[in-house]
Amino acid sequence: MTGRTVVPAREGRAVQVAAGRRVRVVDLEGGQVGDLFAFAAGDVTEQLSAAHTRAVTSRLFPRVGEAFVTNRRRPILTLADDSSPGEHDMLIAACDPARYAALGAAPGHASCAENLDRALAGLGLAVEVTPQPVNVFMRIPVTGSGRLEWLPAASRPGDSITFEAAMDCVVVVSACPQDLVGINDGGPTPLAIDVLD
Ligand SMILES: [Zn+2]
Repeated sequence: MTGRTVVPAREGRAVQVAAGRRVRVVDLEGGQVGDLFAFAAGDVTEQLSAAHTRAVTSRLFPRVGEAFVTNRRRPILTLADDSSPGEHDMLIAACDPARYAALGAAPGHASCAENLDRALAGLGLAVEVTPQPVNVFMRIPVTGSGRLEWLPAASRPGDSITFEAAMDCVVVVSACPQDLVGINDGGPTPLAIDVLD
């Protein structure tokens, strides 16, 4: 499966990526965070793990050339190319209904956790626990005192981040619907997932 899948604002989509192929997440309008999840094809209990990846890279955030590993410590994606300013988060959990309730949103606010479940369901798949995503274009710098800052995404229209699959996998991207904390510059907008030849 190659070609473009548009991820509408506030929604999620899943694509299947064969080992060796590249998958690119494009910020169509700029300033938009995407929550990216990856699962081993055929066994979604093996999944990209930000915590296991940090243990391999000894870094908080991803860098071109480095691999993301699964909860079984096998490489699943490699960060192959990045035309954005290069800031991507690996610390923050996916937004979910409890997060929006705590922020005072009315019930029914879209969330990345539900977008993941819906996108996987489209492939007949399900997970019991929402993995911690790689939050592409999300800016969460760590200050010297260890405090986190929440800054609006600095990606420009057309900026992209490209991964190479190290195994057959399912990649899910949610165009984060967060509109109560200012991480999406200008409000939620769409993304695109390109599976390259
Ligand atoms: Zn989100």
